[in-house]
Amino acid sequence: MRYASEKIGIQVDTGSGPPCSSRVDREAPESARERKQIMRVSQCEAIVLAARDYSEADKIVTFFTREHGKIGSIARNAKKSIKRFGGSLEVFAQLRLHIVLKETLSRLDSVDLITIFPHIREELVKIGYAGYACELVDRLLPEAQPNVRLYRLLASYLEYLDSAPALEDDRRFFEVNLLNILGYRIPLESCSQCGVSLESVVELYYLPPTGEFFCSRCIRKGLKISPETLSLLALSMRTGRFGKIRFSGDTLREAGEILDSTVASHLNNPLCSLAFLHEMSLVEGR
Ligand SMILES: [Zn+2]
Repeated sequence: MRYASEKIGIQVDTGSGPPCSSRVDREAPESARERKQIMRVSQCEAIVLAARDYSEADKIVTFFTREHGKIGSIARNAKKSIKRFGGSLEVFAQLRLHIVLKETLSRLDSVDLITIFPHIREELVKIGYAGYACELVDRLLPEAQPNVRLYRLLASYLEYLDSAPALEDDRRFFEVNLLNILGYRIPLESCSQCGVSLESVVELYYLPPTGEFFCSRCIRKGLKISPETLSLLALSMRTGRFGKIRFSGDTLREAGEILDSTVASHLNNPLCSLAFLHEMSLVEGR
């Protein structure tokens, strides 16, 4: 589909092409003025990772798009234009964007709302989990690298959270899969020293500083981890659906310690949303 805008060298991608489908119009423009106006215009699906006010009327919004990965954008007059943005530039809203892609800050022209995940927004704990998931993706995903598997994981988590109770189990399921997709897979398979399969080991240890697991013949320090915890974490990576994996009290605590230290090892600063989650746990007595 092409719009009148093609006259100035813009080709609009309607999202029906291959995954990374926005493109520069290859037709040579006729003048220098026209050359200056060549832009990559895209219509793509996205989840809002972060949004903040910029000047009196504008907003800076970070999106995780299915087609182009993470991109930063400016939405001019966002705080006033209901017609173009419909008040939907909120963290974890899922949108269809009409955007002009640029190397630095892209220009958001308008959006169509897919869902704002209304039931998440009714509960503080759910808001905490959804905000945490978005901040984690924002902090760990490099700019402009499409990652459809991670996009699906985040979208599935938000969809699940919108219709199911907020549980720590699902946050851990999200984390272990996010780490795996981003190439930070937790090395659950074998002892880091002797290489024995950890499936057959009854007593094993996790060393937070290195993120490695050991059988008790090699090392007896760090966190003692039960084989059940290890097997639930491994199962989490083989199971594609939220709500399938449930940890018990002890396995949830152990999985939490492993995941917290692994996530922290990939971040320079703690996540703001984690502090909020901790406050929520106190309030809710979780
Ligand atoms: Zn060993």
